[in-house]
Amino acid sequence: MANILVAGGSLGGLFAANMLLRDGHDVQVFERAGESLKGRGAGIVTHSALLQALRCAGVDVDRQVIGVSVQSRVTLDRQGQVLASQPLPQVLTSWTGLYNMLTQVIPQENVHHGHHVTALKEQDDGIEVTCESGEVMEADLLIAADGLRSLIRQQLAPSIQPEYAGYIAWRGVCDESVLSDETLRTLFPHFGFCLPLGEQMLGYPVSGANGSIRPGERRYNFVWYRPVAQGDDLQDLLTDEQGEFYPTGIPPHKVAARHIQAMRQAAHQVLAPQFAEIVEKTAQPFFQPIYDVLSENIAFGHVALLGDAAFVARPHCGMGVTKAGEDAMALADAVKRHGATVQALKAYESVRAPACRAITLHARTLGAYMQYQAPVITSESGLSTDRYQVPDDLVRARDVMRQTAVGMGLAA
Ligand SMILES: Cc1cc2nc3c(=O)[nH]c(=O)nc-3n(C[C@H](O)[C@H](O)[C@H](O)COP(=O)(O)OP(=O)(O)OC[C@H]3O[C@@H](n4cnc5c(N)ncnc54)[C@H](O)[C@@H]3O)c2cc1C
Repeated sequence: MANILVAGGSLGGLFAANMLLRDGHDVQVFERAGESLKGRGAGIVTHSALLQALRCAGVDVDRQVIGVSVQSRVTLDRQGQVLASQPLPQVLTSWTGLYNMLTQVIPQENVHHGHHVTALKEQDDGIEVTCESGEVMEADLLIAADGLRSLIRQQLAPSIQPEYAGYIAWRGVCDESVLSDETLRTLFPHFGFCLPLGEQMLGYPVSGANGSIRPGERRYNFVWYRPVAQGDDLQDLLTDEQGEFYPTGIPPHKVAARHIQAMRQAAHQVLAPQFAEIVEKTAQPFFQPIYDVLSENIAFGHVALLGDAAFVARPHCGMGVTKAGEDAMALADAVKRHGATVQALKAYESVRAPACRAITLHARTLGAYMQYQAPVITSESGLSTDRYQVPDDLVRARDVMRQTAVGMGLAA
């Protein structure tokens, strides 16, 4: 039995901790946040690998309601008419639903909230980890599941930095019960798209706040990608009413009312009325700047990077959570084969680094579809298509894709 520490108690950390605990190891999770992360996040697209990871983590997937099923995708034009549709059955779930499933199967005493990992020291036979409180721990392995701005990655590979993609995603969930009959009929049952020039809106139904998937109690999750130039524009968006700037991401309740108002106004100008209604009626829309993280290495002695700490793929292919689950499965498998050793982490890296790199580059290409259309294309704004080498055939197919969206493999 090995002694394994996990930094980060979000989905990636919980996947890994549950799997390693089930394999008989002593696993302790250290999460910076003082309390449960419940209620965070919005909609998540499921894939078969996500269900497999949940099973490996101990979740009884076959007995649980995982999410809401949709049968087809539709793209709406500015007037709200269906431009194209295509059958594509999928199950959509929510971040909170997944978090609840993973926290229900882990013993509470193995998760330590309010523990901020601040330093690590590699040793001959393991790793020494220090928390902000001054607490020092020793372990055979450290799994860094500490997210996009991973402090552990910064210490081990400082040259790898999140790269802003040149656009943000406005997100939110709107209660089904407040929507008009027209929106409930034409959009709500579908995975929907609307494609203004240089932007992309998509949405899908998810369970209600209480987890219910009963008609009338569900919600519609939206993700609206909009270009925002790096610099003053982005800084302004990330600044709250009191003038405080949140460079690494503004909490949802701090987003300035004037930005929400401007976004809602734009929704009525550029989106299908059904999507504009959803944006209007969403109680607390929030946004996230979109970043890429492409790591060279994800194994450093007795430390492995996992999930968003290792690679961040833009959300277009809906793989962020699935990728973290697949990382955890590969890591648990490597530890099973090689023990809790440096060799196991190298084996994990050899499997996951190429796979995650491919996902990240694929998501980047999908994002370049919007950037190709961006009305202002400058290198300063980060919207230059040169950086992404949009394939010619993707560019030629632009008009077809504007109508179907489904041909691009867009998933989230
Ligand atoms: C707009 C948008 C839409 C998305 N849609 C999808 C989707 O449809 N499907 C999908 O699969 N994914 C989606 N994702 C991505 C997904 O949310 C993440 O990729 C996934 O949750 C990976 O989680 P993680 O555990 O690696 O990192 P995170 O969820 O970022 O967790 C990191 C955790 O580490 C903690 N932490 C940080 N530093 C420390 C420290 N020093 N010590 C201790 N704890 C620390 C943090 O508090 C946090 O809890 C989307 C993302 C965005 C932005």
